[in-house]
Amino acid sequence: MDLFAEMEPKAEASTNRMLNPATPLKLWLPKQVLFTPEALDEPYGQEIYERVTRLNLPVTILKSNRLTNLRGATSRETYKVAKTTLAVVKAPPSAFNLSPIPPSADWQFHLAQGCPAHCQYCYLAGSLSGPPVIRVFANLPQILENLTRYQQAPFTTFEASCYTDPLGIEHLTGGLSKTIQFFSTLPASQLRFVSKFAAVEPLLSIDHNNRTRCRISLNAPLITQRLEGGTASFPERLSALRKLALPKAAGGGGYPIGVVLAPIMPIENWKDHYRNVLQQLKKALNFNPDLTFEAISHRFTPGSKEVLLDWYPNTSLDMDEASRSVKRNKFGGLKYVYTPDVMKEMRAFFERELASLFPGAPLLYWT
Ligand code: SF4
Repeated sequence: MDLFAEMEPKAEASTNRMLNPATPLKLWLPKQVLFTPEALDEPYGQEIYERVTRLNLPVTILKSNRLTNLRGATSRETYKVAKTTLAVVKAPPSAFNLSPIPPSADWQFHLAQGCPAHCQYCYLAGSLSGPPVIRVFANLPQILENLTRYQQAPFTTFEASCYTDPLGIEHLTGGLSKTIQFFSTLPASQLRFVSKFAAVEPLLSIDHNNRTRCRISLNAPLITQRLEGGTASFPERLSALRKLALPKAAGGGGYPIGVVLAPIMPIENWKDHYRNVLQQLKKALNFNPDLTFEAISHRFTPGSKEVLLDWYPNTSLDMDEASRSVKRNKFGGLKYVYTPDVMKEMRAFFERELASLFPGAPLLYWT
């Protein structure tokens, strides 16, 4: 991966700047907000309508409950229109049949589908069909009530960020706050979400009852800069994690937190790059918070590669099948992962570094 070779890893910022990034956080604002009539009939749809009109965003109320006319003349144009469109819709009946999502949680559910960021390895590529519009579900209260059907003894975890980055659209929807509040009274359950955004202020005052684990995705800053367009910077994410985890009495959210190291890539000097990430993290979390880690190496499928090359034709992301191993799932689908030697070396590195720098924080899984 030569494009990554030209920069040496270095301390991304002084601790002060890291914890208090100088520039205000950029919030995503769509160029158009669409409402289906049935979404606007929902009280939560109305709340979103009020939020986006207060922000003076251009709003259109559609004539039917279907999203149409979102394709441009080229796939590039379709991508551009879709990624700048927020559509408020009702989730279909299928949203009430949950799927398991090992190893990150027992069940997945969705507040929204689609994400305003532009990660060149995006996990959604190939999983969601049609233009990548950001669809928010106006029937969220019903989606949340439905979760109780899936509670199982002794404890159930629910993942909310498989198809979206819920924090990236929170300023427009308020849906993540509602979900955290819902979980605060749901016994023996945990909400889990992960984000590459950093605008955590609305979450800090919520009485969450420790039933939400807020995770932030981290990567080598070089990878974040090159491949994670539209997301918060590495220092902003560290600052967000710190705020989420600081006790309420110290002005933080008092949440259990997590770090999702993903997607891990063996770029040139990768050990130095990732050691730097963990050292900066250690400085940001110098108060022994309730912390877990998850580690996910980069992988792709034939379908995701095709979609990603359509969205990002000039990407520097390495998706060379010849240098990978093939992994098949039980339904015959295949994905390309790093070879066993590379995987073994990377896994050993992270297990060793995490145990040494964060001895009390478990690595929940490596994949
Ligand atoms: S933040 Fe996640 S969902 Fe959003 S573009 Fe990046 S990889 Fe895709």
